[in-house]
Amino acid sequence: MINDAGRDISAYIHIPFCEHICYYCDFNKVFLEGQPVDEYIEMLLREMSLQLEKTPIQSSPTLYVGGGTPTSLTAQQLDRLLSGIAARFPMETVAEFTVEANPGDLTAEKLSVMRNYGVNRLSMGVQTFDDRLLKKIGRRHTAADVYKTMAFLEKADFRNVSIDLIYALPGQTLAGFRDTLKRAIELDLPHYSLYSLILENKTMFMNWVRQGRLTLPDQEEEGQMFEETILAMEKAGRRQYEISNFALAGKESEHNKVYWHNEHYFGFGAGASGYVGNERYKNFGPIQHYLKPLRENKLPVYDTESLTLKNQMEEEMFLGLRLKEGVSAERFERKFHHTIEEIYGAVLAEETKAGLLEISGDRIRLTAAGLLIGNDIFERFLLD
Ligand code: SF4
Repeated sequence: MINDAGRDISAYIHIPFCEHICYYCDFNKVFLEGQPVDEYIEMLLREMSLQLEKTPIQSSPTLYVGGGTPTSLTAQQLDRLLSGIAARFPMETVAEFTVEANPGDLTAEKLSVMRNYGVNRLSMGVQTFDDRLLKKIGRRHTAADVYKTMAFLEKADFRNVSIDLIYALPGQTLAGFRDTLKRAIELDLPHYSLYSLILENKTMFMNWVRQGRLTLPDQEEEGQMFEETILAMEKAGRRQYEISNFALAGKESEHNKVYWHNEHYFGFGAGASGYVGNERYKNFGPIQHYLKPLRENKLPVYDTESLTLKNQMEEEMFLGLRLKEGVSAERFERKFHHTIEEIYGAVLAEETKAGLLEISGDRIRLTAAGLLIGNDIFERFLLD
């Protein structure tokens, strides 16, 4: 699904509340207790109304409610949010509607609310099946919660589920990771995302690593975890369609593909980012800063950046090369009115010669060796 028209705009909707704070997390989130959750939902819906009035759309190919923890909302709050979304968006055009869920937080009532409003995909933050590690990274759920939630979803015949795993966690051994991978695959889900732990500034983890209180697996071990993941997933029929994502055919995340195809999307909620027309924008992050302009019927945009043609071409390459299918030369030319050869001929030749890129028909993609060092290659596509 490729959506080039400026009026086909997907949406990311951010729920910044969490019932606990994980030690590695640098997302825009706050501890749930004492937060003005009901007002936040009302203002979120107001933001959608204001934005859709400013930028009318004809379709919204994907909707994604993420966080934070969307399942930290009560069933009533979830109902208010989802019914508000359904009243504002052309729901008949929405092909994929995902909500993020935390294992253990999903009740029958919440699932029924989601289904009522067309949610057809769940993304679950499992991270690891090792209870000791879960505790160490500050997660509150256990592996048993994951199994319970999966059994509940299976009984409810809700099968379009993705799980997120994190590897290279502090103290994680190769044997421990293999066990997590095996257990994840045994769940027989259509989609898996696996990311290595990234140490972010201002997280508890970063402080602990600086103080020498945490040790992380070395680069070689991390590389091996990644390579074993690719092999195990492919063996289980989950194709690596993006550097960190694996799926059965036809079960790729359409929403994430909107990002990787460099298409347009709204970002609603505190700290959310959007890309509309030639502009990327970012909302205020702190809850009260986000609510204030909305109370006065103004959009809560904190920063906008107009992308030059060069910026857009760079992004087309960075994002598209993350996908196994790579970048389409024909689409590049249609979007930018320059051939990809004109702009990137020299880089393409060099990286192809180095065995990191391959060109096949209309497609320019990373080779297996290139996928392992993606970030280094992306830099080569900077134009200035
Ligand atoms: S990782 Fe998820 S659940 Fe944990 S604090 Fe961050 S947003 Fe909340």
